Amino acid sequence: MSIHEPLELSHGGFDTVATAIEIDQRQVALGEIASVLVHEIRQPLTAIATNGQACLRWLEREDIDRVKLHSVVGEIIKLAYLASETADRIKHTFAGDALPFGIIDFRAVVDEATGIVRSECDDERIDLITEIGVGKLPVLGDHIQLRQVLLNLLANAIEALRCASATKKVITVDIQIDQGSLTASVSDTGPGIDSDIAHRIFESLFSTKASNMGMGLSISRTIVQSHGGRLEASTSAQGGARFAVNLPRAFVTDG
Ligand code: ADP
Repeated sequence: MSIHEPLELSHGGFDTVATAIEIDQRQVALGEIASVLVHEIRQPLTAIATNGQACLRWLEREDIDRVKLHSVVGEIIKLAYLASETADRIKHTFAGDALPFGIIDFRAVVDEATGIVRSECDDERIDLITEIGVGKLPVLGDHIQLRQVLLNLLANAIEALRCASATKKVITVDIQIDQGSLTASVSDTGPGIDSDIAHRIFESLFSTKASNMGMGLSISRTIVQSHGGRLEASTSAQGGARFAVNLPRAFVTDG
């Protein structure tokens, strides 16, 4: 059943039990879309609000730093586009549209995602260390979806550190290259993944946070698997959490 198909009701009521079930299923589908949408859009919207507030503070000063202001307004516009692209992807995913995968630069994806959360990390006094190297790293996939995976992992790391008593709050993002694959990992110095729940964290709607929905890791793993890759969790060298996205490399020949 597509959620776009119109349901025909006779006399304004449920015609049959089958119709009632169909409506139930459609409501579940709509609920799922709403949860995914809220989850994925919240982050860019929060970043837009943080940047907007910074602009207002700067505008109140006598010596307005126009260059800084210009760059933050540019960032706000970028984030607004990102939110709109993400919403568009979600719409296509739920409509069952096959995404046209192309050769993309995975290093650029990781770079973009870390760039988006950098001001949030600064606000939270989190050191965001990127060891991602330089040069193109081709993979076959969808830039927006993979960026969303990285953003989900970074959002989780920020949340883990926000509540943590860790004296040194650090997130490290690195990229390792093997013969046939690439691994981008996001490690934090937070409390790590509780061993009692480690086997459940990739389940849809599983969350240990009061105000969260528990969709991020399940969506992320689905996206990575649809790219022929793996998303795995472990303990970081500093005892926090480490999430690794492993993807097959694409080999492109010039010309
Ligand atoms: P949500 O963030 O909405 O709870 P996720 O699917 O992203 O949903 O994560 C599921 C659960 O995995 C979290 O509630 C948390 O318990 C655990 N988790 C995820 N990332 C981390 C992390 N970096 N450190 C510790 N626990 C984590």
